[in-house]
Amino acid sequence: MSDQRIFQYVPSGAWGLVEPLFSQRAKSLLLTLIDFVENDVLPAENLFHAQLAPHGPERWKSIPAVLEELKNKAKKQGLWNLWLSKGEFSGMAGGSGGGLTNLEYAVMAEIMGHSVILAPQATNCSAPDTGNMEVLARFGTQAQKDKYLGRLLQGEIRSSFSMTEYGVASSDATNLKNTTARVEGDKVIVNGHKWWISGAGDPRNAIHIVLAVTDPSNPSPHKRHSLVLVQPSSKGVDVVRPLQVFGYDDAPEGHCEVKYKDVVIGVEEGIVGGRAGLGRGFEIIQARLGPGRLHHCMRSIGMASKALELLMQRVTDPIRKTFGKELHQHGTILADIANSRAEIDQARLLVLAAARQIDLHGAKAAMKDIGISKFTVPTMALRVVDRAIQVHGAEGICQDTHLPYFYAQLRTLRFADGPDEVHVQQIGKQELKRVPMLRERYDGVRKREEALFKAHGKVKAKL
Ligand SMILES: Cc1cc2nc3c(=O)[nH]c(=O)nc-3n(C[C@H](O)[C@H](O)[C@H](O)COP(=O)(O)OP(=O)(O)OC[C@H]3O[C@@H](n4cnc5c(N)ncnc54)[C@H](O)[C@@H]3O)c2cc1C
Repeated sequence: MSDQRIFQYVPSGAWGLVEPLFSQRAKSLLLTLIDFVENDVLPAENLFHAQLAPHGPERWKSIPAVLEELKNKAKKQGLWNLWLSKGEFSGMAGGSGGGLTNLEYAVMAEIMGHSVILAPQATNCSAPDTGNMEVLARFGTQAQKDKYLGRLLQGEIRSSFSMTEYGVASSDATNLKNTTARVEGDKVIVNGHKWWISGAGDPRNAIHIVLAVTDPSNPSPHKRHSLVLVQPSSKGVDVVRPLQVFGYDDAPEGHCEVKYKDVVIGVEEGIVGGRAGLGRGFEIIQARLGPGRLHHCMRSIGMASKALELLMQRVTDPIRKTFGKELHQHGTILADIANSRAEIDQARLLVLAAARQIDLHGAKAAMKDIGISKFTVPTMALRVVDRAIQVHGAEGICQDTHLPYFYAQLRTLRFADGPDEVHVQQIGKQELKRVPMLRERYDGVRKREEALFKAHGKVKAKL
């Protein structure tokens, strides 16, 4: 018999599907996580905001103390680096990590989505660090791992992934050419102008992984770029300003405009993978984004579930009658609840299937499932949050609930890591690859049908 606490978050049908694939250790961690989120993280959310320095330069110089307290608690309880799945990958990171499967982590990330502002950070499971750790674990030299990976895994430093270029349509990554890393002997010199670089405002940030052109004349547009490790304290790095998402600055991490001017680094030290990593930028970013995109989807389901919980509490508040009825007694509201429940549960199945596919066959084989999740789950969650905002009336769009923040976060996910349309296009093309096989199957059926008619001495009528 499963612990009732799980059903507060995961419906019994979905849990029934995944429970046989959960280890005893993962079940026990799941309960620990639920208790941690409910008892420690959710109550700390408003304190986190209260401890942030007010707007101005000070805001980007300190970290709310409550976050470090939560990180210490999470570490002690084994709720640390849960995203770092077991097997080969964990081995590359020196055996660190939660030792979970992607499927086990999917359920846990959903629960973290209920406190998207704090739970992922408190457990060292937040973007962009997770993807950056993955890059270093998979492709970094031993010296790069020693310098950055260990400290990232410990949550001592933070990092950025610096790809999107100012003034360039960056959703087509082959357009990226304004940031260059010129190799001169054993040095590399970086120049460029990026923006929307998450985490670049954070005083703990110790590394930007910068996508830059190293071989502009390579005939393959996918071999022109490399990833360069740039320390933000280096001469020539200018974090120009934090950008805002609908007014939210996401301090202390921020999403920043950054300029790199003649930043000099050693090739072995600076290029991810050392000199051998030259020209491998595209190959590495593909590997980086797979599981990371899915992590966002997992958390989006948590956000949608939380929004539905807020919606249901609001519409059953006896004080808030309209036209003589409580809100839930109006048919449209019941439809909102039912549709939201149905959409969340459908989306969860997609995400779980993608996570299972990664476990069974690796991230590359799961790209289709991940891509479908990427363009459907945040949009689904946005619809649910929008319904929750609507039933709250004007309160729903002000700072008195977390709903506007959820909305901003989810709207962002329709661009971040590539806009929906790009994923839609890729999935459409991939799906069409099935056509020759479909034709063959349908031809086979037609031939067997003709044979059947012939055997029965009948002529097929046109229907
Ligand atoms: C909050 C936030 C955080 C981010 N964090 C980071 C980060 O840490 N690092 C980083 O490098 N970047 C980051 N980004 C940037 C993000 O990855 C880019 O915004 C995204 O890749 C799109 O690039 P673009 O903004 O240049 O849009 P463009 O490339 O100019 O595209 C504009 C629009 O064109 C449409 N479009 C594009 N291709 C197609 C197509 N094939 N078919 C139909 N329509 C299409 C889409 O609607 C798209 O939104 C972040 C963005 C946000 C909002």
